[in-house]
Amino acid sequence: MRFYQLFINGQFVDGEEKRTFSSLNPFNGETLATCARAGAADARLAARAAREAFDSGPWPRMKPEERSSCLKGLSDALNANAPLFAELEVADSGSTLRKAKEDVYLSARALGIYSKYALVDLTEQLDAVSRPGISTNFLLREPVGVVAAIIPWNFPLKMAVWKLGPALAAGNTMVLKPSEETPVTAMELARLIHNAGFPPGVVNIITGFGEDAGAELCRNPLVDTVAFTGSTDVGRQVMQGAAGTLKNITLECGGKSANIVLDDADIELAVDGALYAAFYHQGECCEAGSRLFLPERIADEFVERLTAGARAMKTGDPMNMLTDLGPLISRRQQESVLGYIAQGKRDGGVLATGGGIPHDPSCAGGFFVEPTIFDRVENSWTIAREEIFGPVLSVLRYRDTDDAVRMANDSVYGLGGGVWSKDPQRAMDVARSLRAGTVWINEWHLLNERAPFGGYKQSGIGREFGLEGLKEFTETKHIHVDLAGSRDRKPWYDVVVPRH
Ligand code: ADP
Repeated sequence: MRFYQLFINGQFVDGEEKRTFSSLNPFNGETLATCARAGAADARLAARAAREAFDSGPWPRMKPEERSSCLKGLSDALNANAPLFAELEVADSGSTLRKAKEDVYLSARALGIYSKYALVDLTEQLDAVSRPGISTNFLLREPVGVVAAIIPWNFPLKMAVWKLGPALAAGNTMVLKPSEETPVTAMELARLIHNAGFPPGVVNIITGFGEDAGAELCRNPLVDTVAFTGSTDVGRQVMQGAAGTLKNITLECGGKSANIVLDDADIELAVDGALYAAFYHQGECCEAGSRLFLPERIADEFVERLTAGARAMKTGDPMNMLTDLGPLISRRQQESVLGYIAQGKRDGGVLATGGGIPHDPSCAGGFFVEPTIFDRVENSWTIAREEIFGPVLSVLRYRDTDDAVRMANDSVYGLGGGVWSKDPQRAMDVARSLRAGTVWINEWHLLNERAPFGGYKQSGIGREFGLEGLKEFTETKHIHVDLAGSRDRKPWYDVVVPRH
């Protein structure tokens, strides 16, 4: 069994209260790791370490090249340890090995990209000067200070890197709190950070629960900004916690993304795309395509093919490279998803496939749910409105494209969306009309670290990735430089020293 301590001020330490918690392997229910459980006092210590590293340490004052090389070193170290990280990610999060290998590769790549972002000079000289001819005006983008990053359990390593990369590239220091469900790869990352030349206190990583360690980070006056990814309900709590000290926040929260198939779509491609959108990582993705809109004319055939595709997906041991769906993260999550399925049945959904726990003996010890498709769902039902975060797809049938778009936008969420069509212009028209932060045309799930990602409506606040994402970790300072040179060229001269 593995054991992890907290990583505060460059050292591995026990929590103040010496409490611990276990992280389970969701495939077999066995304890994978015992972790120190950070309480509010530990969160305060970590915030103080980050504060001191920001206020008086070398990190924000280093040359960008030096920060860049630390991030590049971390990227290389992650690549060098890729097999270990992939294996631990599978055991801790129930991710399939196929997904975990890609996650590690993409995480190392993202750190490489952020090592380049560390070199970007965001300073702007304004064309629209305050006093034409007698002033120059600059915008500086300075690090915001201490970042608290709070992340969920679905993509533990990627989420850690997606916060760490831009926060550090912009010159901040930070406290990262992984989810209590999946602390392992973040703590392995701490080991790499320890050896990668980051000054002490620049990155602090504390394992613990949201109610104490997480809540303290949101409230703590030494923290300047909270970067959160997780459920919309917890996002609201983060916002409330941060309100006391008026912190900046970015929230990347839930979704109920609409996947719209137009009647001219390549059906085979759209069926595969819909399965991928809904069932990738057992549906535990904030941008999952969990509402599928089909035109009446092709719906029967489409659902038939979709059902056959879902039945062919292999649920089982996530370490098996042939497995498509691994276990859900926890028994609690399994019960929650089964509860939504029961609700869907009560509301009158036509269960096309799935709906229960897989019978395969290899699934007996884990928190599995079958890939499940409900046909003829109404947009007002719970399974079409709430984020299920499991392998449950709702099929909604529509009359015409306006009808589909109206229903797609009738949601409190607005994270992702998709359109399948052979006609680029029709697809683009629908893409424009969706109120969502990312829309894929004939694709799904593909994120780009150089293009902003985030949600409309209750899916979030702010953006990750790209220069927009980097700027979320900066404060903007306007510097006005007066070039008038003499008192009589100043417009306020009249006011302060009246003319004779
Ligand atoms: P999920 O439902 O995906 O687990 P949550 O939104 O519950 O996601 O949790 C995401 C992260 O937020 C986790 O790291 C969790 O510990 C943390 N968290 C939970 N409650 C709070 C809270 N009240 N304040 C701050 N962080 C919290």
